[in-house]
Amino acid sequence: MGESKGFLQYGRRQVRHRPINQRIHDFNETDLALSPDEIRTQAARCMDCGIPFCHGMGCPLKNRIPDFNELIYKGRWQQACNVLHSTNNFPEVTGRVCPAPCETACTLAVNDEPVLIRHIEFQIVERGFEEGWIRPLLPAHKTGKCVALIGSGPAGLAAAQQLARAGHNVTVFEKDEKIGGILRYGIPDFKLEKSILDRRLEQLAAEGVDFQAGVNVGEDISTRYLRRMFDCICLTVGAGQPRDLAVQGRGYENIVFAMDFLTAQNKVCSGEPINESKIITAKDKTVIVIGGGDTGSDCVGTARRQGASQIYQFEILPKPPDSRPPDTPWPMWPRIMRTSSSHEEGCNRRWSIMTKRFLGAETRLTQLEGCEVKWHKTADSWKLKEIPESEFSCQADLVILAMGFLHVAQDGLVRNLELKLDDSGNVAVDNFQTSQPWVFAAGDTVSGASLVVSAINSGRQAAAAIDKWLF
Ligand SMILES: Cc1cc2nc3c(=O)[nH]c(=O)nc-3n(C[C@H](O)[C@H](O)[C@H](O)COP(=O)(O)OP(=O)(O)OC[C@H]3O[C@@H](n4cnc5c(N)ncnc54)[C@H](O)[C@@H]3O)c2cc1C
Ligand code: SF4
Repeated sequence: MGESKGFLQYGRRQVRHRPINQRIHDFNETDLALSPDEIRTQAARCMDCGIPFCHGMGCPLKNRIPDFNELIYKGRWQQACNVLHSTNNFPEVTGRVCPAPCETACTLAVNDEPVLIRHIEFQIVERGFEEGWIRPLLPAHKTGKCVALIGSGPAGLAAAQQLARAGHNVTVFEKDEKIGGILRYGIPDFKLEKSILDRRLEQLAAEGVDFQAGVNVGEDISTRYLRRMFDCICLTVGAGQPRDLAVQGRGYENIVFAMDFLTAQNKVCSGEPINESKIITAKDKTVIVIGGGDTGSDCVGTARRQGASQIYQFEILPKPPDSRPPDTPWPMWPRIMRTSSSHEEGCNRRWSIMTKRFLGAETRLTQLEGCEVKWHKTADSWKLKEIPESEFSCQADLVILAMGFLHVAQDGLVRNLELKLDDSGNVAVDNFQTSQPWVFAAGDTVSGASLVVSAINSGRQAAAAIDKWLF
């Protein structure tokens, strides 16, 4: 602990954003860094709370939060950087995009505002890169074992780095043109600029990780080839099956999945060649985003920057309460009302809305028809009921479906390998090993759609299981 009564003396400083009228004209990152003095004061708010729930329960990676807070307070930034990297391969990513379950579990959050953990993490790693403290770490010896990671999202990359550092020969196959998974093609630049990702990939390459992008495993190379060339493989292919909306008129060409919309813009931002027909723009359009979660919010921010004339976001669940509800007491992650920087930029948000049908002419949608619903609890689940006479109709030039993902894409690789699935349709594992002993799996492929921090954690744990299995 840095300062014994810091939490009584200093309040939480919120991270500031660039002004709205500036940031909506570009795709650069939105957050502004606090000054070193402000960061020291924020670190001083960390209490000597005895059992740090932020570390033990909040953060899936078990980041050593009280330790790095104390080091920052004492000005020992390089040591703080080492402590941070001892549990987290990519703090520059989590420091930007993590929803920070550590903060809702912070002891100070019982009756005050939590310590500003995520932004402190961001500042430590950025200082680390600036000072040149983050260098390639080479293994003391090579094992001669070969491992392939299939999929280059945070789970695959974390596993690759851990395995390379353990001395194995590591190849990452990725079907997209560039490495990064959802970090590259899903999350918009205004939350995570892609140069941040490239900077870390240079470190992995220097540590010996071989990147093979543009290779769709199962199509471009066979699983027989993998079996021959590698001691084992690990599937980190994500949870690519999006949830669809089976209502009348779904087939109109201007109803698109969120990942297609976001991927197109991410490619435009990074100057990647993109087929004209794949560019989806919201310019001068009335856009309706269906799905009230973070992916939906990313679509709102992207549509705003593209110049949409009106943006609506419809969510089928009821509006969450402003403060922690009794069913998720501290230190649990609460479902509360959250307003992202994209929402602040202008968006009409509605809750308890069900889409009933899409109407249009020829191939294009022009209207969405929906109604309001009421939720009630039965013995074992929640049920919704349409509110009589609540039907409405809304002009729509572009509808973006951001309703989450069902499970791993089961066709292709998963089927070719004849892997067992769990009850949710994801790949079933026992300590990251699938029903085929030479095939491991991690990240969203196993858990279903989750968070970057959980994917990194899963990749790290899978790497430890693989390392053990190889010997
Ligand atoms: C739009 C969006 C925004 C998000 N924003 C956040 C956020 O702000 N904060 C947060 O914590 N979480 C966020 N998430 C969730 C988070 O990004 C995911 O949980 C995380 O990326 C999962 O990591 P992963 O490595 O398991 O899979 P992914 O990141 O999905 O990567 C899987 C990779 O495997 C590749 N692949 C699939 N099949 C093959 C094959 N046959 N051969 C080769 N490669 C293959 C895919 O192309 C992909 O690149 C977001 C998700 C989405 C969709
Ligand atoms: S990774 Fe996420 S949960 Fe863990 S300390 Fe950082 S912000 Fe908190």
